[in-house]
Parts: sequence; C-alpha cells; structure tokens
Amino acid sequence: MIAAMQTDNAILRIAVPSPLRRMFDYLPPADKGSGQQLFFPGQRLRVPFGRCELIGVLVEVQTCSDIPTDKLKPVIEVLDQTPLLPEHLFRLCRWAADYYQHPIGDAMLSLLPTLLRKGEAAEFRSEYLWVASPQAVSGAEAVPRRAARQQALHRELQNHPQGVSADALKALGYSAALLRALAEKGVAVKTVQKVTPPSLVAGENVLHESPLVLNAEQSVAVQSLNTHLGSFQCSLLEGITGSGKTEVYLQLIQQVLERGEQALVLVPEIGLTPQTVARFRKRFRVPIVALHSGLNDRERLDGWLMARCGAAGIVIGTRSAVFTPLKFPGLIIIDEEHDASFKQQEGFRYSARDLAILRAREEKLPIVLGSATPSLETLHNARCGRYQWLRLTERAGEAQLPHFELLDICREELENGLSATLIEQIRQHLQRDEQVLVFLNRRGFSPSLMCHDCGWLADCPQCDAHMTLHRFPPQLHCHHCDHQTPVVLRCPKCNGRHLNPLGAGTERTDEALQRLFPETPVIRVDRDTTRRKEAMEQIMRRIHSTPSCILVGTQMLAKGHHFPRVTLVAILDADAGLFSADFRGMEKMAQLILQVAGRAGREDRPGRVLMQTYHADHPRIRSLIQQGYLAFAEQELQDRETALLPPFSHYALLRAEAVAPGRADAFLQLVRQLAERRLGGQAGAGEIKLLGPLPAPMERRAGRYRAQLLFQSSGRKSLHHLLQGLGQMLESDKQISAQARKVRWSIDVDPLDMF
Ligand code: ADP
Ligand code: ZN
Ligand code: ZN
Repeated sequence: MIAAMQTDNAILRIAVPSPLRRMFDYLPPADKGSGQQLFFPGQRLRVPFGRCELIGVLVEVQTCSDIPTDKLKPVIEVLDQTPLLPEHLFRLCRWAADYYQHPIGDAMLSLLPTLLRKGEAAEFRSEYLWVASPQAVSGAEAVPRRAARQQALHRELQNHPQGVSADALKALGYSAALLRALAEKGVAVKTVQKVTPPSLVAGENVLHESPLVLNAEQSVAVQSLNTHLGSFQCSLLEGITGSGKTEVYLQLIQQVLERGEQALVLVPEIGLTPQTVARFRKRFRVPIVALHSGLNDRERLDGWLMARCGAAGIVIGTRSAVFTPLKFPGLIIIDEEHDASFKQQEGFRYSARDLAILRAREEKLPIVLGSATPSLETLHNARCGRYQWLRLTERAGEAQLPHFELLDICREELENGLSATLIEQIRQHLQRDEQVLVFLNRRGFSPSLMCHDCGWLADCPQCDAHMTLHRFPPQLHCHHCDHQTPVVLRCPKCNGRHLNPLGAGTERTDEALQRLFPETPVIRVDRDTTRRKEAMEQIMRRIHSTPSCILVGTQMLAKGHHFPRVTLVAILDADAGLFSADFRGMEKMAQLILQVAGRAGREDRPGRVLMQTYHADHPRIRSLIQQGYLAFAEQELQDRETALLPPFSHYALLRAEAVAPGRADAFLQLVRQLAERRLGGQAGAGEIKLLGPLPAPMERRAGRYRAQLLFQSSGRKSLHHLLQGLGQMLESDKQISAQARKVRWSIDVDPLDMF
C-alpha cells in the first residue's frame, strides 16, 4: 500500500471531474487537526475549483509542482481515512482512463456509486438498536410486576445483548408505546450501531439446493476451470444456446464460495434477465448483490460496500460492475461476452470485457467468457491459444438444437411482412398448443410513411433518417434523435391523401397476427411495451402462464430467456446486416440470428426456426445455417485478416460534429495534418494509417453534421502514443483548441460501431 504521511512539502495531485485531460495540484488541508493525516491514492477530497467546490480523487503525492507553491490552494477536507478502492482496482481505473483517452477525473468519479461521488461516507447506514440498560440492576425493580408486557419486552432485550431494532421488536408484537414506557424508566436504551454484515467464511455450506448432475462436456469444463482457481487464466466457454453454460458457472462459483472467495458476474442487461438472478438466489445461501437499474442510490452504495467488505458472495451486474471492489476476489464471469453493451458508447468509452480480463490478470483470478456466439476478437484469441477454449456442443438435458430452414421470399406476396408459408406454419404450431416467437428488430408500426401520389417520405428534419410511424400513441417518431410530430393526414408536398405506411415494425406485425389468429393471445415485447417499471416481469409471467400464444418482439426477446413452450421461431427481417456499412454488420447479424433461434425447443418438444430472406443463396447465410457459427466466423476472420480489419489491426475513431455544415470536416482535416506531422518523428509511425475525414454513415443527426477520422494501426503502443499526443494538443495548442471548441469531438479506442 502506497501511503504518505502529511509532510510540509507534500503536493497532492488530484483528479477532479472536469473535461480536461490533466490533474490538478493542491496543498494538504490548512488545518492539520490533532493527528497526522495519511494520504492514499484513491482517497476522496473536497477541493476548491474555480468558484465552486468539487470532490476529487487523490492520484499521487508529489514533492514538487510546476506551479509555484504560493499559487496552490489547500484541500478543503479529506473524506476518506482508509483507501476507497483496493490498489489493484485503483490502478486499473487509471490505466483505463489513459488507454481510452478519457479525462482521468471524469473517469475516476464516473465509476463510483453516485453517493460516493457526492461525498457521502463510504460506510453502511447506521441503525438504531435497543438494548437493556446495564445500569438498571434488574428490570423487576423499575418495571411494575403487573405490567406483564413490559416485563416480557425487558426479558426480550436481555436475551439480545447485541441489540434489537424497533422493527424487529414490532414484528415480535412489542409496540412503540411499550418501548417508550421502558425507555422512560431508564430500563431500555437506544444505541446507534453501524450495520456490518459478516464476511464470507471458507468451507461453509454455501448451497440451498443441490447442483444438477453434469453431462460429460459440462464436467470437463468445470474440472478444467477448477484447476485455475487462485491464478490468472482466461477461458472461453463456447456453448450453444441451452447447452448449460449457466450450470457450469453455478458449479464453478460453488467452488469459489467454498474457498471463502467472491465471484463477479457481468451480464448484458440485468433487467431483461431476472431469471438469471433468481437462479443464483435459488442455488446459493450466501448474500448476492444484484446491481440493477431499479436500485436507489443508497441500495447501490450498500451493494458496493457489501462487495468491498467481503460480505457478498456473488456480485451480478452490467458493464459498470467491472469496477466493483472485492475483498476476496476469486472469479470473474462475463456472460454473453459478445454483447455490445459491454462497451460504453458515450463519455468514458471503456470495454468492460477487456478491462475485466486485465483486472483478472492483476488480481490473479480466472476469468470465463461465455457465449454461444463469441465475438471474433475472442475467437481469434482462443484460436491463437491465448485463451483456454472449452466447448459445449450439445443441449443439456433432453433438449435438441432447433432445425433451421430458410424461406426464400423473393417474388413472394407478403401480408404485413409475413409470407403465406410462414403464416401456415405458425397456424400448425398453434394448433398443437405451442408457442410461436416472431422476431423482427424494428419497433413501431412501420419504419416510414410514404405518399402514394408523389413519393414523398416522412423524414426527420434533424437527421438523415426516416421517421417511424407509431399507432399507440399515434405519432411520427425519429428513433435517432427522439424528435416527435403528429401524424400528417395529407402529403405536405402534393396535398394528396394517399399516405401509406412502408414496411413493418413490431406494432404492425402484432396487429396483423391478431387479425390472422383472433383466438390466440399475441404478446409484444419491445421498448414500447416494457417501458413501465416491472412491465418486463409481468410480461414474462404472462408468457409462462399462457400455454399457446404468439410472442412478437425485437432483440429484447433474444437475450437469455428460457421459454419452455416455444417450438417455432420466425425471423422476419435478418437480412439487413448483410449490407451494413459497418464491417461488424455481418458478425452482429449472425449473433442475433443464433440468439433468437436459440429460444426454440429448449425443453422436450423439438424446435424449428424459419427465416425469411431475400438472399437465400448468400454464401455467409448458407454457411451460418448449414455449417454453424464457427464455420461462419472462420470465413469472416479470413476476410478481416485480408483487409487488415480488427482483430488483425487496432482501430481508434475520432468523431466530430457541429451544427454548421463542413465544420466537423475542417476540424478533422486539421487534426489529420497534425497527426501526420507528429508521425513524421514518431517511432513505429509506419504501423499507423489514417483514413478520412469522412462523413459519418448517417451524416446529419439531431441537427448536427458528423464526420470521423479513423486511425488504423498494427501496433497498440504506437497508436496509443499518437492519440495521447493529439489529445493533449487539442486541449492546449492555441490554434487547434480554438477549432476544437467549435465542434463536439471524442476519441473512441477499439470502437464497436462505426457510426
Ligand atoms: P445456457 O446458459 O447455455 O443457455 P442453461 O444453463 O440455462 O444453458 O441450461 C439450459 C437448460 O438446461 C436449463 O433449463 C437448465 O436447468 C438445464 N440444464 C443445464 N444443465 C443440465 C444438466 N446437466 N442436466 C439437466 N439439465 C440441465
Ligand atoms: Zn405527395
Ligand atoms: Zn431525428
């Protein structure tokens, strides 16, 4: 532990939440108080900043500063007397801010729970507990013998020398009035106690229910993962949907808990998978902290503290949970490791998956990346032997993998996006009292509204995009900038009345299916139907209690759900990814198709997947369907290698946007010149290529013109070095920073999408 005593010439280098890519120097607090003040990296301090006060984080203690000491201001207050974060984690945060080119103060504070960011003490809530007064020799003297309830309460308190809360007493039938009566006689006293939950203990019985008997592949996976407990090892658990990956996690976690250690589990979207958390709670007796969006600030801090003090056996959370401190770290699991949500897409653009691997290395833990459709980056690493590669190739239990069929819809007459063959197949499955899942990744009624007379299309005034038509409530809505307008009844261009919805979204498919199958409940799952709190749980309950129904939904339906009665999955429009401007379009499409398909036939009834397509003989679609994901991924990786795309090179994207057309482009031109000049003298410069500036694929969005400059490099180091220099220049160089202030710009290292 690096700690420094307060000395007279200490300079505190502090990260404050400001958009500037630098730290600020301060002097120790003017009032030293009675004892010596200790300083730790990661300590929170209240500091003066301009005309306000901010909470900052101490990064280093130095002996000198570039600024004369008499110009430095003293810190106002030291908020933590013990380190807030374990040293490893603190270093990881620093490294991440540096690697992802994000201002360190903003990065450091953004990953703390809100209450800590606001200066709250990093302590559990205090609680009032009642105890029997030690002064009152015997309650019998003070409490009249006739007052039987008071006597009983006094005995109760004596039985709990560590104290009881008023709520617990109330639950035992003792009223507040009764407590008051004892307090007035001096027999009962209220004490303040910090609630400190007990730490995990090695060797305890950690189970509620006994684990399943593993199949052969699962056993191999659990056994080989077990051998790495206590040391760093990154493993890919590649298992088809329903192959029992979660059961592997559970049995591995059991070992970790029995060692008295903690497991950190990262999942894409916890709100969408309450089933997963429920499964963990059902299996284990240890405290489980689920960091989901429904928590209030206090609950979130308590969860964080539970993890930090070693009381929580399991911490489950989304992306940001990667920064949760653990006292006894034992294992990290990333479920659905390919999911885009692990990369933050704005502000501090870190990849939780990549940081988790680094964290595991630093803290000497095994890490498991689980997926049915691993990202090409991860597959590449597994193929090169950097990761251990474990495979589950069969469905667990009795279930079989669904049967895939392509429905060629070229020249087919579609009814609201549904082909006649598909409708007939849906009918047959419903007749057998089964559930059908219809997937299309577009919400709303229809993706655009068109004038039949003149071809006018309802476009967003702020974006290069069409407005989506919604029926309930009726409106035109831009899904890119949230602009909303009432539905027009006449064409604004030719005044014609023949305005037609073009194409189908979930709302329209829902309506069409209701008309086609009036006897069958149709349940829609998309952002619009799940907006209310707990709506998702209600919908899930309804799905599980309705024997035969149709589920219509977006990718929300694809992720991790277990619907035992779904036997047919119909995919309406998965082709879009084939011609995406993004080089990851194909990979994302394949992952989505297989995830959705994986919802079919998860129990005893066999499942089928019907996929409508205009490109039934596209070679990638064919290899995906006929040979499976790995064969598909192999071909994709070959293409990427030829084109030197990630993972065969490293990318960084400098994005800029401005209201005035051309301004973002001009700014990026300037950056490009600067970069070229810097590269002239930089070692490893030959590895780096600059592409652009180019307009973003959607050039205008929310009223701003957007452009981007792409950096491609075969080495991470040289790229990092260049970006670092550029970032600093953009802030401090007079000419460029003047230009930079006229645009919004950001650097995205290892970008996941190119928009
Ligand atoms: P995945 O996480 O790979 O999608 P799950 O762990 O959710 O798969 O398992 C799918 C289903 O199979 C679940 O209902 C689970 O209870 C069951 N299952 C998993 N492992 C076994 C096993 N060894 N024996 C019997 N059933 C199993
Ligand atoms: Zn018109
Ligand atoms: Zn818009």
